[in-house]
Amino acid sequence: MKKILLAASVVLALMNSCKMENPLLTESSAPYGAPQFDKIRNEHYLPAFEAGIAEAKADIDAIVANQDEPTFENTIEAMEFAGQTLSKVASIFYALMEANTNDEMQEIAEKISPMLTEYSMYVSLNNDLFQRVKAVYEKRNELGLDKDQMTLLEDNYKSFVRGGANLSDEDKALYSKWSEELSLTILQFSKNVLAATNAYTLNITDEADLDGLPEYVRTMGAETAAEKGLEGWAFTLDYPSFGPFMKYSKNRELRRQMWTAYNTKEVGGEFDNTEIVKKIVDLRIRIANILGYETYADYALETRMAKSRKTVDEFIMQLLEPTLPFARKDVADVLAYARQNGFEENKLMPWDFSYWSERYQEAEYSLNAEELKPYFKLEDCIDAVFGLATRLYGITFEELDNMPVYHEDVKVYDVKDADGTHLALFYTDYFPRASKRGGAWMTDFRGQSIRDGVEYRPFVTIVCNFTKPTADAPSLITHDELTTFLHEFGHALHGILAQGRYPSLTGTGVSRDFVELPSQIMENWAFEPEYLNSFAKHYQTGEAIPAELIEKIVAAKNYLAAYGQVRQLHFAYLDMVWHSLKEIPATGTVEFEQNALAPYSVLPAVEGASFSPSFSHIFAGGYSAGYYSYKWAEVLEADAFSLFKEKGIFNTEVSESFRKNILEKGGAEDEAEIYRNFRGHDPQPEALMKKLGLTK
Ligand SMILES: [Zn+2]
Repeated sequence: MKKILLAASVVLALMNSCKMENPLLTESSAPYGAPQFDKIRNEHYLPAFEAGIAEAKADIDAIVANQDEPTFENTIEAMEFAGQTLSKVASIFYALMEANTNDEMQEIAEKISPMLTEYSMYVSLNNDLFQRVKAVYEKRNELGLDKDQMTLLEDNYKSFVRGGANLSDEDKALYSKWSEELSLTILQFSKNVLAATNAYTLNITDEADLDGLPEYVRTMGAETAAEKGLEGWAFTLDYPSFGPFMKYSKNRELRRQMWTAYNTKEVGGEFDNTEIVKKIVDLRIRIANILGYETYADYALETRMAKSRKTVDEFIMQLLEPTLPFARKDVADVLAYARQNGFEENKLMPWDFSYWSERYQEAEYSLNAEELKPYFKLEDCIDAVFGLATRLYGITFEELDNMPVYHEDVKVYDVKDADGTHLALFYTDYFPRASKRGGAWMTDFRGQSIRDGVEYRPFVTIVCNFTKPTADAPSLITHDELTTFLHEFGHALHGILAQGRYPSLTGTGVSRDFVELPSQIMENWAFEPEYLNSFAKHYQTGEAIPAELIEKIVAAKNYLAAYGQVRQLHFAYLDMVWHSLKEIPATGTVEFEQNALAPYSVLPAVEGASFSPSFSHIFAGGYSAGYYSYKWAEVLEADAFSLFKEKGIFNTEVSESFRKNILEKGGAEDEAEIYRNFRGHDPQPEALMKKLGLTK
């Protein structure tokens, strides 16, 4: 006890000595206590992390050393608020690692990573801490806890148990052994995917074999060949090379070679993953079993909105079965088009589909992104996106010009509720630069919380890569970019409107299969004429966007929707089939996959080809028994948006209910329940079918 107190005081002394000059450790003097980006330098991070981790450990030690009976407050709440400095420093550091990085930050990240792992093990393997959590958990029903407190307690308890805390010493040893073996096997899986991808090159030396490839694809091919010291043109299995080649190459035999290389690259040979897939599945079954679950899917789904295998299986079939006839019709339509245009076979093989569907799209549904751009001036879009939030939720955005920012492109807004109350600081960072990674995302520098009766409102940011304005043209964005903007803004609203108290449960702190609802629902407005007409005007002439263009946008969105949906559902289904196994199959991986998918196929199966050996999402990423989440989120948002469609896309009764029931709640309550509170029923797959035009 004494020892711990001593350690804590040393920590405080350490912190005080570097607090003087470290803006990550001092109280911010900026408005609302915003991050002091004007003062933060690279050299501040490491000492701030060191001090933050020391403080966090001292917080945990203090919880364990507490002589009082474990209570919700002195254990669960205390853990939730442990390591305040560490969370603040980490939020800022990792946000800037993505948005405004440099070599030195990358080096710092490498130093910090093992420190953070060590800290997280300090907590998760702390048996004394677990015993306190367990003591509180066992009397949970007598404590009179609020819903969010119950969620927090259960989350904490489960995360220990799922990490093996409740096992006997003997089983703990097995659990660690298998976990370690699993991570090494996963590593091998990824290495093989990478090596197999890099091992193949299609080298073309006869220019005639480039037939159909657009100029940019040829240039890319020539550059790749030069890099590899080859004559002519080279194409690889990396998607930016493989994808366009399959879409445009007129040479059917070369397409077949490329497709086959892609789909057999980890089957047999030097980079074989077929046995590794089975080993991963086997280890996952063992781990799930030892923790008390029948299958790995049961284990994985416990912490998601869907909760059970049965729910996910039914969900997949409720979409897959009715979509299949439409997907087969999509393939028949493409085949008919192909046959009218010189294709002489009776069926499309997988290496034909991407090529001919692309030709068909060009002929029937062409949507020229450049033609649309003049109607989407970034400034107009910003006003329209913020304006949508004002119309739906009454919130306003006032630009602040006195705020510290990490780059001159960043703008900061004070977001206020209809009654003028401050809700959040909102940072926007729209344009690409070398220090920013590609893509678009939302994150926060501080989440919303209430601590010791004081509320901390969030600092939310969205980062994008939109075309920069030039000397003679403003920034004009594509319709896709507008959709992305609305998507990220939807995540931002989830953060901005948060009304919780525990940081891990507010804002976007929800299950993986629920987190895309607030973002994806916002994309719907980008396809609503009533909304587009309110702002999409030609930046030079002021002419409103023509109705035919809007119609084209909608038609292009649903082109091959059924085919695309079946493809996604194949992946989701395959994922569930693998992770619902109780023992590894006697058949080989390729055969197992082909048997599973046979009843639902839309294109002919190809002997020896298999997706599982390269399915990194589920075998090496975070989507094991989770691939369904993509479709799940689409159903959620389609079903939720259908209420807006029914009552009006600007109906404030619906939007207020969405705000109160969904956006303000974060992950504090059961997501299936809060969804029902908003919608009046469970998410209905029919809503997505209808949205995609897949109804009879
Ligand atoms: Zn998203």
